[in-house]
Amino acid sequence: MRRKLVAGNWKLNGSLKTNAELLAGIVGAQPFGCDVAVCVPAPYLASVAQTLTGSAVRWGSQDCSARDSGAYTGEVSAAMLQEFGCRYAIVGHSERRQYHGETDQVVADKAKAALAKGVTPIVCVGETLAQREAGETQAVVKRQLSAVIHTLAHCVSEMVVAYEPVWAIGTGKVASPEQAQEVHALMRAQLKAATPKADDMVLLYGGSMKPDNAVALLAQPDIDGGLIGGAALKAADFVAICRAAG
Ligand code: PEP
Repeated sequence: MRRKLVAGNWKLNGSLKTNAELLAGIVGAQPFGCDVAVCVPAPYLASVAQTLTGSAVRWGSQDCSARDSGAYTGEVSAAMLQEFGCRYAIVGHSERRQYHGETDQVVADKAKAALAKGVTPIVCVGETLAQREAGETQAVVKRQLSAVIHTLAHCVSEMVVAYEPVWAIGTGKVASPEQAQEVHALMRAQLKAATPKADDMVLLYGGSMKPDNAVALLAQPDIDGGLIGGAALKAADFVAICRAAG
């Protein structure tokens, strides 16, 4: 039986003051019946690590460089994330693909770099609205996942995958449980062809998951948790989703 994971993606939000309030609300609501993590802006990793050490709540980053070190201004390496105790690194979020031109191969290289330092990559895949309307959802997700499967090779089962339809992110338009499950089942089948451990892998859904739709999404057989954006910024909402997963 897979244990569910609920991971918050804070994106470009937060301050020392609001982070402290948010984390107090999450930590104070323990215990959870699922794994829980917050993926925070890099400058806050040290203080978040300090706050969460000793709790069951894990932390991570929202990106990870594919490079180990050198002249790559602005990049944060997997080794640095590891030093700050990151359990997870989101890679390939659609906002990185869209605004930073990250290709499938760059995303795969980032996932590999994270894993090499013991940081679990949460690899995001998902189609745009235009791609869904053109009937390309399966092909897009398959292509995005293929790149990472090929690059991670025998380590593929160690990643977490997040199916995040781009049209559902931050829009309030959530994929129906059936739409999400259909893609998750396809991803599981694709992973099964690559690793005997595919049934143990955690596949998250992300895209306007809220307390009022989480139960139905999380009840789907191949949805093993959520990657949560907007609702991760309010302790009560995030905790409610964690409870739905637990
Ligand atoms: C996300 O950015 O990963 C996300 C799922 O955002 P939201 O929950 O706000 O749609």
